[in-house]
Amino acid sequence: MRIDIITLFPEFVLQVGEYGVTGRAVECGLIDLHTHNPREFALDAHRTVDDRPYGGGPGMVMKVEPLRAAIGVARRQSPTAEVIYVSPQGRRLNQALVRELAQRESLILLAGRYEGIDERVIEHDVDDEISLGDYVLSGGELAAMVLIDAVSRLQAGALGHEESARQDSFSDDLLDCPHYTRPDTVDGHAIPAVLNGGDHAAIARWRRKQALGRTAQRRPDMIEGVELSAEDAVLLNQYMREIE
Ligand code: SAM
Repeated sequence: MRIDIITLFPEFVLQVGEYGVTGRAVECGLIDLHTHNPREFALDAHRTVDDRPYGGGPGMVMKVEPLRAAIGVARRQSPTAEVIYVSPQGRRLNQALVRELAQRESLILLAGRYEGIDERVIEHDVDDEISLGDYVLSGGELAAMVLIDAVSRLQAGALGHEESARQDSFSDDLLDCPHYTRPDTVDGHAIPAVLNGGDHAAIARWRRKQALGRTAQRRPDMIEGVELSAEDAVLLNQYMREIE
């Protein structure tokens, strides 16, 4: 998957490809990152990329021309990619949207700075707007990096163990179950005995029960949308009785 990022801070964004799962995805060629710095497309001697807002007010706004030129180059190099502006005003990123984006062969991410970008770029050069959530970051780079991380781990072969993506929170509209590792007792707190018993069916049932119970407890909004099987309903009932 090719991902082009339009950013004033390319070195910052490219760090997402230096570590861990995303690092491996880049190293193995599953993810191909390219950056385009609007500053390199600014026409004046000072390489100006921002200007004061019309109508007055605080802060600066990213100018049309350098952004449009950078987007143009990215589009030419990656002709089938949609241009996604990461913005607090976009549709909210969730795992379903990550799954959808991860299937594309290319993306162009546009990271804003300052008060944001000139609205005419959004109207005429951007295909989609995606938000990380209802809060404001000082720049789109971290949002772009989050998106790159989330889609990278869904590329076939990016995770050491494919099963782990299937177990993750949201993969089946449930939160993940709790995880434990050695030692089995810490400060008198032992792991649930079932995990040490070697009964794989019992372990799978326990994990499903925890995932259902946690989701119901922590995210009642999510559990409402889940179609529970008869066994799920029994497990959820057990979980609720056990925590009472
Ligand atoms: N004035 C803008 C607004 O209130 O909608 C916020 C501008 S913000 C300070 C600068 C840049 O950070 C934005 O252009 C956008 O690219 C990025 N950004 C901020 N919050 C974000 C969020 N929740 N999700 C994605 N990108 C965000």
